[in-house]
Amino acid sequence: MAEDIKKQIEKLRQELRTHDYLYYVLNQPEIPDQQYDRLFAQLRQLEQAHPQYITPDSPTQRVSERPIEGFGTIRHAIPMLSIDNTYNADDLRKFDERIAKGLEGADYDYVVELKIDGLAISLRYEKGILVNAATRGDGETGDDVTANVRTIKAIPLKLLSDSQIQETIEVRGEVYMPTKSFIALNRQKTESGEPLFANPRNAAAGSLKLLDSRITAQRNLSFFAYALGEVSQPLADEHWQVLHRFKKFGLPVHPNIKKAADIDEVIEICSSWEKERHHLDFQIDGMVIKVNSLDQQEILGATGRSPRWCISFKFPAEQAETIIESIEVQVGKSGILTPVAKFKPVLLAGTTVKSASLHNFDQVDRLDVRQGDTVIIEKAGEIIPQVVEVKKELRPVGTKPFKVPEKCPNCEGPVKKNENGAYLRCLNPNCLGQLKEKLRYFAGRDQMDIENLGPALIEQLVDTGLVKNFADIYKLQKEDILELERMAEKSATNVINAIDQSKNRPLWRFIAALGIRNIGTQTAEILADEFASLPKLMDAPIDCLQKIEQIGPVVAQNIYDYFRNEANRKVIDGLLTAGVKPVHQKEKKSDALAGKTIVVTGMLENFSRPQIEQTIKQFGGKTASSVSKNTDFVLAGAEPGSKLDKATQLGVKVIDEKEFLKMIGKI
Ligand SMILES: [Zn+2]
Repeated sequence: MAEDIKKQIEKLRQELRTHDYLYYVLNQPEIPDQQYDRLFAQLRQLEQAHPQYITPDSPTQRVSERPIEGFGTIRHAIPMLSIDNTYNADDLRKFDERIAKGLEGADYDYVVELKIDGLAISLRYEKGILVNAATRGDGETGDDVTANVRTIKAIPLKLLSDSQIQETIEVRGEVYMPTKSFIALNRQKTESGEPLFANPRNAAAGSLKLLDSRITAQRNLSFFAYALGEVSQPLADEHWQVLHRFKKFGLPVHPNIKKAADIDEVIEICSSWEKERHHLDFQIDGMVIKVNSLDQQEILGATGRSPRWCISFKFPAEQAETIIESIEVQVGKSGILTPVAKFKPVLLAGTTVKSASLHNFDQVDRLDVRQGDTVIIEKAGEIIPQVVEVKKELRPVGTKPFKVPEKCPNCEGPVKKNENGAYLRCLNPNCLGQLKEKLRYFAGRDQMDIENLGPALIEQLVDTGLVKNFADIYKLQKEDILELERMAEKSATNVINAIDQSKNRPLWRFIAALGIRNIGTQTAEILADEFASLPKLMDAPIDCLQKIEQIGPVVAQNIYDYFRNEANRKVIDGLLTAGVKPVHQKEKKSDALAGKTIVVTGMLENFSRPQIEQTIKQFGGKTASSVSKNTDFVLAGAEPGSKLDKATQLGVKVIDEKEFLKMIGKI
């Protein structure tokens, strides 16, 4: 009996590991999410009933319950060297000449990989089980970040059985934060007045250095393996083969690794990625070029801190020069005042930009940026425009330093610096600027999704006094809207219909729409699943909130405090009285895409890469990475790549995002 249960537990674990592998490594999920969740729940139940069988490599044991005290250090069995940089084709050719000389005329080839802008990590597996994970540190010793690395689902806690599981194997790779998660995280930080991460690399590093791994688990970190550290038995003769063995172990390796026969081919691959990189859903800052043969790597050896057989090719940062037209101060939904630079529109890394957040007043002071200044704009992590330099020598005469506002530019209410001093907050609870932001967020696409209730209309509704809180939206009549400037009969009807339709949004959207500090859609979904009803969530005692695995103590306290506030409860009552009925529904099952193989290319407006893959999977479809005759259709976003040409060539159907949304019944 006991043996049976043990066997059953091990079987479930093995099944879950296989599905993680199919999802995170091969990108070819075979079962819908619900089925995965069922297997997971089954395993958790069995383990709870028989805790003696819980082992650290179980898929249920990724997140530790308690924060850690601090980070220990780990000495790397083999030092983690850094890689020398090159910036142009000439430097690459010089590198190739050194290789040719070092190998004394022997044949050689290269492997070219993407240089992911994240944090280098060394994972140590013993008998196939992840025993520790360390940052690079100074190359000799790094920080022990095992607890946090365990929360990254792309990293297997147990390697899949390959023909021979190694006694010891160290895998090196990059932990990174996908672009969408980075943007969402910074948006959340802006709202709560915390300092922002400058780029996805800092965000990944910061997330790995958290003392509470429950928070790390929410940061959507991911991983690609790219090199071998210590290993008991040689894995292969070539780096190329090592990467393929990694995949067999269940480790994610980026699909775009390429072999190159000579340096010309290397240069060609590098320059094609310089353009293609904007289509990835994570950031790369260059390419890494390695001599393929491990024997030859050994012959070439290392100089001091970096290997001779490997070099990186860094992409140039894209910059543009423009002139500041004004510096405006905006008030956010929690009252934070943010200075924003408005400048002459300029083309930067493929898009036209005309404004950049200056983050806070210390930053404005540091840059001493003024109206009329000529400035250099760069995209932080290639995503968010930033003012990086003020050309003071070009400053026109008579400019004045920017003055930090002494009152809220919107309501003229009092302002106060927050604890760490960098942020100013409007203290007026009735600030209309804050209210407008709250309403915009409430009606936003990821919350109540009220399509025709845009910023301009919200502005008018608040200014005329028609809407003073969320509930007032649902009391609006068509006549009210018609009285506003420039509103025609048809648009007024559309607005009223959209508001009406939003009354029955799922519970998680409703929770997200309230704008509780640090609660984004993801946490809202967790809360909806956990409590399944609004009253239960509102009355949840603090220990009940703290017990939820994926929610940290600070966030639990925020939720608790929010629902203990009389004013908040009154607004929610008002919403319910006005006919809003948030219901919890388990994700509806649909087989709209059953049996379909779909290739996605280009940038989508509504989905990041993982999200679209997840969605296709949820609706019973399958994603593939390349177009073939077996492809049912290609979903093409903005700036599609060569996959689109291939589709046209093979006569495979191509659809756009709108058509896709229709297919799955979202519009
Ligand atoms: Zn204000």
